[in-house]
Amino acid sequence: MSEKSLYTRLISGLIFPLQEKLKKHDTVAIHEAHEKSQWWTPGELERYRLERLRRFLQDVGSHVPYYQALFAQTGFAPERLQNIADLRQLPFLTKSLIRENTQALTSTQAVDLARFNTGGSSGEPLIFYIGKERVSHDVAAKWRATRWWDVDIGDPEIVVWGSPIELGAQDRMRHLRDSLMRTELLPAFEMSAARLDEFVARIRQRRPRMLFGYPSSLSLIARHARKQGIAMNDLGIKVAFVTSERLYDEQREIIEAVFQCPVANGYGSRDAGFIAHQCPSGSMHITAEDIIVEIVDANGQPVPPGQAGEIVVTHMATGDFPFIRYRTGDVAVMDDQPCACGRGLPVLKEIQGRATDFVIAQDGTVMHGLALIYTLRDIHGIEAFKIIQESLQLTRVEIVVAPHCDLPAAKTRIVRELGARLGANVEIDVQVVPEIPAEKSGKYRYVISKVGT
Ligand SMILES: [Zn+2]
Repeated sequence: MSEKSLYTRLISGLIFPLQEKLKKHDTVAIHEAHEKSQWWTPGELERYRLERLRRFLQDVGSHVPYYQALFAQTGFAPERLQNIADLRQLPFLTKSLIRENTQALTSTQAVDLARFNTGGSSGEPLIFYIGKERVSHDVAAKWRATRWWDVDIGDPEIVVWGSPIELGAQDRMRHLRDSLMRTELLPAFEMSAARLDEFVARIRQRRPRMLFGYPSSLSLIARHARKQGIAMNDLGIKVAFVTSERLYDEQREIIEAVFQCPVANGYGSRDAGFIAHQCPSGSMHITAEDIIVEIVDANGQPVPPGQAGEIVVTHMATGDFPFIRYRTGDVAVMDDQPCACGRGLPVLKEIQGRATDFVIAQDGTVMHGLALIYTLRDIHGIEAFKIIQESLQLTRVEIVVAPHCDLPAAKTRIVRELGARLGANVEIDVQVVPEIPAEKSGKYRYVISKVGT
């Protein structure tokens, strides 16, 4: 291990374990176990997962009314589980099922649940509950992943985040924890030029060991610092962890160049959990001790490694409010090659984005929003944009333009090139706007399709 300050050792070795004990979380024990299990062989890992899954489903079948009824109706018996693929005997859990069965999905044993409400950027909000067990496992998953990059709990960290939910009710507790744990939050949904000046100054002053945030936000800060000619490459930042959005190559490049640190991708969400984190060898390792990932096609059938499909997640630390075969709406590819780092944790090869990042041409061709994004990126003088596919007949494009932009030429090119991809008869409506606001959550979405896939 490299140099660690006394403070960091004090935090990670003493204060954090004590604090977790007070909150009745088992985070420290989980973390210690997972530090070892990451090196297990795939066979050892699989045996552990099967046993854990069996116990989890038995618990759920005993205490969660929704699954009690389902197991009784279908004759599903957790104790008869022979392998992890037997999980497929259970139906998928969808956002609408959660909405309709919120009460029945809550364990009769659950105490002290935290209520979550994900912002509804592309649909209705989702309300669900998280128990202490799950919080411990999610914190342990993040802790392990940051240690891959030589960052420990207690190291100074700047989080650029925007979820209004997480800034809500528990503000006071958060503030206490943040000051103790040396995590500082910068609000991602207020990214005006004046705020960007403040953010850049704050990061310089704070000299965090890690940055954590949306790729759009961190790249915006990086671009701003570069534009102002402010050096950020001498702060000793070990890693910039990005999550919650697709990470584009040019975002990675500018963050790495400006902060002089590697970018590590993370994939997860409040509802589905901390699913996968990138290691220094480049692979996205699944938190496999806790989470079972399936990749399925449009008919819900499993697809082989190397092929894209929707990510379906079973989180085995969710006995209080189970997420079993939960359809995330995200699209990814599973890898079957082991990672060079030697960890036995399975690997997601590629995360292609959310289903709503895909657009559908008039002839039914489904394509990733990137096909349209590249067109817009390529046009000189367009500073920001958002593409909204309203219907198969109408796509709206909002653009923010620089003073030197040749607007008529830009408009003509957008209409021509988007038309070529979406269909000649599709109406492309281009509007100049003063700014593109972030979603309520603080995230930026470049493409939103309201046409169902
Ligand atoms: Zn690895």
